[in-house]
Amino acid sequence: CPSDERAVRIPRYVRVNTLLWTTREAIRYYTEKGFQISDPFSTNKAFAQDEHIPDLLLFNPRAQFHNDICYKTGKIILQDKASCFPATVLAPPSDEHGVVIDATAAPGNKTSHLSALMGGKGKLYAFERDKRRFSTLKTMLVKATCKNVEAVNVDFLSIDPLTPKYAKATHILLDPSCSGSGIVNRLDHLLETGKLLLTFQNEEQEERLNKLATFQLMMIKHAMKFPSAQKIVYSTCSIHATENERVVCEALKSEEAQKENFKLAPRKDVLPQWHRRGLREGLDSPEHASSLVRCSPDSDATNGFFVSCFVKGTQVTHSVD
Ligand code: SAM
Repeated sequence: CPSDERAVRIPRYVRVNTLLWTTREAIRYYTEKGFQISDPFSTNKAFAQDEHIPDLLLFNPRAQFHNDICYKTGKIILQDKASCFPATVLAPPSDEHGVVIDATAAPGNKTSHLSALMGGKGKLYAFERDKRRFSTLKTMLVKATCKNVEAVNVDFLSIDPLTPKYAKATHILLDPSCSGSGIVNRLDHLLETGKLLLTFQNEEQEERLNKLATFQLMMIKHAMKFPSAQKIVYSTCSIHATENERVVCEALKSEEAQKENFKLAPRKDVLPQWHRRGLREGLDSPEHASSLVRCSPDSDATNGFFVSCFVKGTQVTHSVD
């Protein structure tokens, strides 16, 4: 059930699992089932293709898919639009030599999205430290037929970046635990139990956010130690600058970033057509805002979300919005 009135303004997002069929086939299937391409809010039977994520379909918020055979067999994945941004921005390699890490994987929506973008080829290591959530991840990967994924029940911070098989990873997705303050609808698969900030008082909230930010920064710095890493996408479903722009700022100033020359990828490589960018006031260098992506739960028909992308060793010219 929607837990927030803003949720009724969010379409039912359905990602087509391209490991099993194409978006064109999915559109034909739903058309044959009586749905019509139209504004998804116009009728219960209307649906549309997303303008930013080609494999994402938008249905009426009242549409239900839990009994749909395509949902049961992993051909579609119920995933908020903003949650499709990180894998899209990471743009993992799709050849048999590609090596990618999803550092914080459960329940596995982004892992299965990455696997699909890799065309099921190469190797995707999916780490998850929580045992119960790891088992959910395994179930999800089987259901979505992600054959190129090796799931490991381990703390990412305990992985030695020089371990030969992991040392080859060129692309890393980092979607760690956060306050979840951007979540406005009950997509439980996006949530981490107990991580929601519901009733915290200001002071408690600040302390909690600072603790999360310390952990998030540690995760980015660890990712930067992987010797072949060329691209690291850091995302949260938080609306707080403390967990977003501030963490990115600190990461850029870190010894790890300086040593490996990690910079923010320019806007042209980070969903350039998406209108909402980072908060300038949260940044030491306000021009970095254009490199960052934000989703507003009030205005963008998505949950609140943040995406950043670090790239190694490139010269970046930032465009001013
Ligand atoms: N990316 C997932 C998806 O789209 O389905 C959601 C990830 S959720 C926000 C964060 C996950 O990271 C949780 O399952 C949590 O248990 C896991 N996690 C947190 N710290 C971790 C660590 N140090 N190593 C591995 N997993 C970790």
